[in-house]
Amino acid sequence: MDDVIKGFEAGGVDYITRPFNALELLARVDTHISLMAAHNDLKTYNESLEILSQQLLEKTKILDTMVRTDFLTGLANRMHMLDQLKREESRFRRGTPLCSVIISDIDYFKSINDTFGHEAGDNVLRAVADVFRNNTRKQDVIARWGGEEFLFLLPETPGNSAYKAAEKIRIAVSQIIIPDIKGDIHVTMTFGVCEFDLDLSIDGTIRMADSALYAGKLRGRNCVEMVIKDTTSNQSTEDP
Ligand code: GH3
Ligand code: MG
Ligand code: MG
Repeated sequence: MDDVIKGFEAGGVDYITRPFNALELLARVDTHISLMAAHNDLKTYNESLEILSQQLLEKTKILDTMVRTDFLTGLANRMHMLDQLKREESRFRRGTPLCSVIISDIDYFKSINDTFGHEAGDNVLRAVADVFRNNTRKQDVIARWGGEEFLFLLPETPGNSAYKAAEKIRIAVSQIIIPDIKGDIHVTMTFGVCEFDLDLSIDGTIRMADSALYAGKLRGRNCVEMVIKDTTSNQSTEDP
């Protein structure tokens, strides 16, 4: 029995005692050859499954990014922004500092489409998205909220800082030139800023920012309007 155990410990897979029968020995060898072949097949199958599962993981990551990205501008889409807003709201409830939202809309975009064509309009959307990326912080979330409307979520940013950020973006947008065969395109945007307020919730904060944006449109566009907390008045800047 000791020898048998030693044999298995040394890597043996079976044992046969002497005197042995040649036919039985051959049958056992056949069985072990088949078992070894099945084992190798399984190993190869397992390896290919691992490769497939790795590929699936990578494709899922790509798909996850795609469903959260606006295909035209490469910014976040509305769905991703909604997730981030919910996250920020719960972070805020747990005591992180103030955050703000900015909603912005391209001025007279319809007339850009009408004058230069829809493709040129798309180029304008891409160009303003680049300006946003170059003029915001890493932690800011920027989404294409609607056709030519964008929403910014600025974590840990009080309203007055968000106002300054919007003003910086507004100026940067007003300075870009988008070349087109029909001529250079200039564009301006109007912005509404609102600091997040638990009483308002995220939806209410966006609604307030939206009404500030609307006020900016009425005031003549190319400006930033901010909702001042606890009052109904708005702060605004003139086009420099
Ligand atoms: P306002 O200054 O009041 O915002 O005027 P506006 O012309 O920008 O506003 P309006 O809502 O009348 O027009 C928005 C236009 O945006 C109309 C629509 O065709 C265009 N638009 C929406 N999505 C896209 C898009 O993906 N590509 C292009 N090229 N145009 C779009
Ligand atoms: Mg517009
Ligand atoms: Mg609009």
